[in-house]
Amino acid sequence: MIDPVSALDGEFDVLVRDGDIAAVERAGTRMNSPDTSVVDVSEYWIVPGLIDPHVHLRDPGFPEKETIQTGLRASAAGGFTTVAAMANTLPVNDSPATTRYMVERAKEVHSARLVPVSAVTQGLRGSALVDFAAMIEAGARLFSDDGIPIDDAMVLSQALDETKRLGYAVALHEEDCALSRNGALNAGAVSKQLGVSGYPDSAESQRVRRDLAIAIGSGAAVHVCHVSAAESLELIRAARRHGAQVTCEVTPHHFTLDESAAMIWGTNAKMNPPLRSHSDVEHLIAAIRDGTIDMIASDHAPHDPDSKRMPQLGAYFGPGHPVAQLDHESAEEFAHAANGVVGLETSLGLALQLVHRSIIEPTRLIEMMSVNPAALLRMEAGTLAVGAIADITVIDPNLEWSVAPEKFLSKSRNTPFAGMWLKGKAVLTMVAGEIIYDGRKA
Ligand SMILES: [Zn+2]
Repeated sequence: MIDPVSALDGEFDVLVRDGDIAAVERAGTRMNSPDTSVVDVSEYWIVPGLIDPHVHLRDPGFPEKETIQTGLRASAAGGFTTVAAMANTLPVNDSPATTRYMVERAKEVHSARLVPVSAVTQGLRGSALVDFAAMIEAGARLFSDDGIPIDDAMVLSQALDETKRLGYAVALHEEDCALSRNGALNAGAVSKQLGVSGYPDSAESQRVRRDLAIAIGSGAAVHVCHVSAAESLELIRAARRHGAQVTCEVTPHHFTLDESAAMIWGTNAKMNPPLRSHSDVEHLIAAIRDGTIDMIASDHAPHDPDSKRMPQLGAYFGPGHPVAQLDHESAEEFAHAANGVVGLETSLGLALQLVHRSIIEPTRLIEMMSVNPAALLRMEAGTLAVGAIADITVIDPNLEWSVAPEKFLSKSRNTPFAGMWLKGKAVLTMVAGEIIYDGRKA
């Protein structure tokens, strides 16, 4: 059992009663009483339930990509007991009615917990603010216009005043669209070779610089979504020295792959922000190691094959035949393909590679995937201390498996990790003492 909050890391029995952690004792001491049902996971890690602070479940609005039902089942299979679902649905989650729909729908599914993320502005249009207090009342625990940056500095400033007063954080999608210009891939050698438009890292760091200055001024809590560029990390470090309350997340695709993945995987390696240079990846890894990066988020972004322009471009890409260049028409198709990759069922496996490569200790992994996301979402979770809710993930750290998109519980298959061999996987997921996923049978 690994529980960073209780500073426990060793062999323990965990007793669950009425949905809570009732006792934690030295392994084998006294828990095998006849009225107790025993789940023997003695070869594995027992950790506080994993929490993904950034997913897109596409519900309401896009059932061809994902629903709350399929998204939460994919979450459970990935080892997540809670996921925070972004607001860029249809309708946008800017009203208590939509928030309540998400909460109710999730309850019916009886799987992982769903935490609704409220939009910051009505319709994600960047001007009129939502009713923050009403959204919290309905169940929202984080605010974000993710997918779209908040361009108007005064709007952001007013949003931060409100969320500070209420005690919640704003999660920021950092993009200066005057610089990114709908660029399809990182501006660099690969975008040039493929002949598609470039999205420079300055489009991210420029906006991080502005927003952290505003955050320092307001004293509000901000969270930088999906950091991709080395320069952004430097700005986050500097802002903390100036007293900013800033946390940040990185996605498994940004710390695992660089821009060259687009040569093989095509639009399945196209996301916003884009995969960056090899040097950026090294800086992200260093920032995971030194603690600059607080948490791992999948930014699970399911898309159907048409949205990814697979009928037009699928034949150009795939392992074994990197393309040299796209003709003009295909480059246009590439630029119009939807951004994003699925991640719920690969996130833990990819994050565990950081442990196997001795970049971080298991304890730090659990901080990044449970303790710190719980704090961001203002949840009493992320620990297996006695009295805590029994949200538990059991991990086999040594199970070797290869990523098979056709087996995903998610409705979508858009991943650049197909066929990759990973070591480590969730084998059992429990929410409030109920087993919601048991991979030992799979
Ligand atoms: Zn985003």
